[in-house]
Amino acid sequence: MSGGQVWPQLGNSGYEVVDQQLAVRFNQRLTAYTATTTLTARATSTLSRFDLDLLGPKVTDVRVNGVRTAWKTTVDGELVITPARPVRNRFVVRVDVLNDLPDAVEGGRPPFGLLRHDGWVQTINQPAGARRILAVSDHPAQKAPATISITAPTALNSIANGKLLRTLKGTTYTTRVFREQRKLATELLQIGVGPFTVLHRKGPHALDLRYAVPTAQLADIEPQLKSFDTSVRFLERRLGRFPGTEAGSFVTPLGGELETQGLTLMTASAMTKDGFEQNGTDAVVLHEVAHEWFGNSVSPKRWSDLWLNEGHASFYEDVYAEGRYGAEQEAVMRDAYEKLGDKLLANGPIAAPDPKTFTGDRADYRPYTDAAYAGGALTLYALQQKVGASTFNAIERAWVHRYDNSVASTADFIRTASDVAGTDLGPFLRSWLYAEHLPPMPGHPDWKPLTS
Ligand SMILES: [Zn+2]
Repeated sequence: MSGGQVWPQLGNSGYEVVDQQLAVRFNQRLTAYTATTTLTARATSTLSRFDLDLLGPKVTDVRVNGVRTAWKTTVDGELVITPARPVRNRFVVRVDVLNDLPDAVEGGRPPFGLLRHDGWVQTINQPAGARRILAVSDHPAQKAPATISITAPTALNSIANGKLLRTLKGTTYTTRVFREQRKLATELLQIGVGPFTVLHRKGPHALDLRYAVPTAQLADIEPQLKSFDTSVRFLERRLGRFPGTEAGSFVTPLGGELETQGLTLMTASAMTKDGFEQNGTDAVVLHEVAHEWFGNSVSPKRWSDLWLNEGHASFYEDVYAEGRYGAEQEAVMRDAYEKLGDKLLANGPIAAPDPKTFTGDRADYRPYTDAAYAGGALTLYALQQKVGASTFNAIERAWVHRYDNSVASTADFIRTASDVAGTDLGPFLRSWLYAEHLPPMPGHPDWKPLTS
């Protein structure tokens, strides 16, 4: 499936990924690694050639159905594979790579992929970093269940999305194998190594909660971890059951809040008692946990559908903050509408970001903009104003239920909303999602958007 116009390089056509096995082996100093990708895929037609996404690592071997095969890489991140014999139906492609892992903070390194600093490794892929680690089909529309194997120095711990299946402990290296049974988009992959301790707790209906926390800061951080349990319960009241087999967090010194599936990346300094209070970290945790429904379980079909992730996570963050901090959602929405207004649309309409407007370093962050976050939240608020709170809530529940563990588009959201409301909401929602100027806010004729 094509990445669409926002990221034409990402994702691949001609096949569907059925299962992904990702194995990463680090050296003792974590300065280099080798990695093996084994994808089981289903060809949608007979393929004499197909692509994976890979940008940077050196390829050492490519095999299709066990047979060594011809390949080449391109500068824009395609690994072009020409199997000895055309593939049809189900096939297995295996790619071995090796790569250096320079310090992530010392500069000159893109802030995506595996990031090493000070004896830790963490992963920030969103949106296009997985291809910088190993060969993948790097698009959420091609997500599939994953087995993730990490071999790291025995003196350190390691963690990934999914449940720990087994540990093979050696004197110098230890391998841990994790399995995520639900589909995992490569942008949500987490591979972590460091001096941390893993805590296990039980959430609502005995949901597994798992926290990987710096061992040196365990006592400082542990009390704040219950915000994950609180967030799950808060969101389950509105959306129904948590859409995964576990929730929790990988807390690291470098951090960078990111909704890596079932294992949200969080910054250690923001999770200490002082950091937590100063940063309002509980609302950030709520936002990231909301992504387990919006983005992780229901993944965007195209990157231009990003507002479905960030608009929803921002919307529920505002709802939560209203209960917690008294900042009324209505006031927050009015502020965004009147102070940001059409400035929100500087990179294009909410559901149609224009890649040409993402210049320089920002190109790697497309389509992450205020339009996706605040614009998406405003659209949802407008919908709630139009159909009423109870119908809006029914739409939300239908959405996360209908597309659970799946992929969906803006058109799918419009269809779901219209089905549930029993009226065609297409013209109304499109007037927000594809507008060049913010439309009037239902129920608030006195609100005046800043115009461009
Ligand atoms: Zn977010």
